[in-house]
Amino acid sequence: ALVNPSVLTQPVYEPGKPIEDVARELGLDPATIIKLASNENPFGPSPLAKAAAVRALDQGELYPDGGCVALRAKLAKVYQLEPAQFVVGNGSNEIIELLGHVFLRPGDEVVMGNPSFAVYKLVTLLFGAKPVEVPLVNHTHDLAALAAAITPKTKLVFVPSPNNPMGTANTEAELLAFARGLPEHVVFAYDEAYAEYLDNPPDLRPLIREGRKVVCLRTFSKIYGLASLRVGYGYASPELASLLNRVRQPFNVNAIGQAAAIAALDDGAFTAKCARENRVGLGQLEAGFKAMGLEIVPSVANFLLVKVGDGARVFVELQKRGVIVRPMRAYGMPEWLRVTVGTPAQNQRLLTTLADVL
Ligand code: PMP
Repeated sequence: ALVNPSVLTQPVYEPGKPIEDVARELGLDPATIIKLASNENPFGPSPLAKAAAVRALDQGELYPDGGCVALRAKLAKVYQLEPAQFVVGNGSNEIIELLGHVFLRPGDEVVMGNPSFAVYKLVTLLFGAKPVEVPLVNHTHDLAALAAAITPKTKLVFVPSPNNPMGTANTEAELLAFARGLPEHVVFAYDEAYAEYLDNPPDLRPLIREGRKVVCLRTFSKIYGLASLRVGYGYASPELASLLNRVRQPFNVNAIGQAAAIAALDDGAFTAKCARENRVGLGQLEAGFKAMGLEIVPSVANFLLVKVGDGARVFVELQKRGVIVRPMRAYGMPEWLRVTVGTPAQNQRLLTTLADVL
């Protein structure tokens, strides 16, 4: 066959629809549509990050710094690690794919929770490896069950905490014990895309200092409000980071994103404010859904699962009324919707519109 069979059997990933697409398809004014479908920050980026992005456009004709030297130096300061311990990607999605390039061959196994972030499975299948999906317990990753699923063929295990789409998290103690119990031939990919929303995010750097095969993944797409610029990063031992850096494209991260990311890290006050606002918004949504008699999964992230009955129908009806959310059928949860925490006004609009539709 001309085409790699993994390509033809690759499941189609359906991300949250852009506002412009929905406006065109439904004949709506884009200004009246709200998107609460992809866990973006409704407050946007820090003004400092925006200004840095605009300044970076002044040199838009030049290739970006392919090594992300300034951003990695900044990250090294923030984390008290070495710049050589970082890899920056076109979103953390790219780093998940780089893990595939470095570690996966046909027949290998990759252990992950179910439901969990969809890209782990896509990347696993793309490299001809086998996803080993471990059911969640109480909507949460059961690390003992994940450990039990590991075989001599396992190359990678993915644990996102908080998990997307559930919004649940594991404790630092659990994660450290899990990693310390893993066999030598397994790389632990700890995805902390939503860590900044936690009061006290788990710190897995001790594992890196102990020389364990761990890579922690973070992103500027969530609390930093820079999803469109596509910047994510991983940190690990220098050895593991250098393997990932070896397989990435030379100019994988654009200069505007690099500049904005550095400035975003400097605006801790803005990040803290977004985390506080998110907790208020979560409370608003939880209270609103409960008042409507709807079941939810308690979340510590910037999104929330709510059980609405016929999820596909409610998704379509909300969209007709200018509210984009995420149906959960692809995750095997057809009765549920995942909604991103918006501004107070956006949350209220979602609640009011949902009450109309149900
Ligand atoms: N990990 C998790 C758990 C996510 O939810 C997301 C975004 N949906 C990502 C990684 C990827 O984010 P990005 O590629 O935008 O950095």
